[in-house]
Amino acid sequence: MTPEQINELNERIDAQFACGHEATELRVLTKSNGSTEVRRQCRRCGGMVEAVKKRVLAVGVLERLPEWDEALRKRWQDTVDGARQVAFRQVRDAERTTWFKEHDAYLRTPRWRSLRQQVLERDDWLCQECHAPAEHIHHLTYDHYGEERLFELVALCFSCHDEAHDGALSRGDRRVEQG
Ligand SMILES: [Zn+2]
Ligand SMILES: [Zn+2]
Ligand SMILES: [Zn+2]
Repeated sequence: MTPEQINELNERIDAQFACGHEATELRVLTKSNGSTEVRRQCRRCGGMVEAVKKRVLAVGVLERLPEWDEALRKRWQDTVDGARQVAFRQVRDAERTTWFKEHDAYLRTPRWRSLRQQVLERDDWLCQECHAPAEHIHHLTYDHYGEERLFELVALCFSCHDEAHDGALSRGDRRVEQG
């Protein structure tokens, strides 16, 4: 994701969860030092809409006000955070799918088939780590992906390749190049 896409997505979520604070209620917040503060709390998002001076309240009102509901504010924040995570996951999944398709197509190109052959011949068809029969071609760098040089590629067996990718292959992550 580009920084622009990230901003855009964040703004979309912020807009979606922007609260108009339509239903509010006066509540009393008791601070850790025991002092109290009267605040108007939104019943939907739990946000503080305004601080209210106690002296403007009619006699007897203060004593009947409910407690400030901090859990409400946190629940709302969790809802927003959850929606943000889902939205980001969707974008990343879509990016992943696109990457897969392009990568699979690349592995079928004559260019890659030829590179693969050259690397295997250079490496005597052996894993360059453990000398078992080579099964995969590993990218030492993706800096020139699509225009790789031979020295950026190395033949590996499945298990050494898996190790090079911290177990991604055995976890079934096909994003790892297999050539
Ligand atoms: Zn609100
Ligand atoms: Zn090996
Ligand atoms: Zn690899």
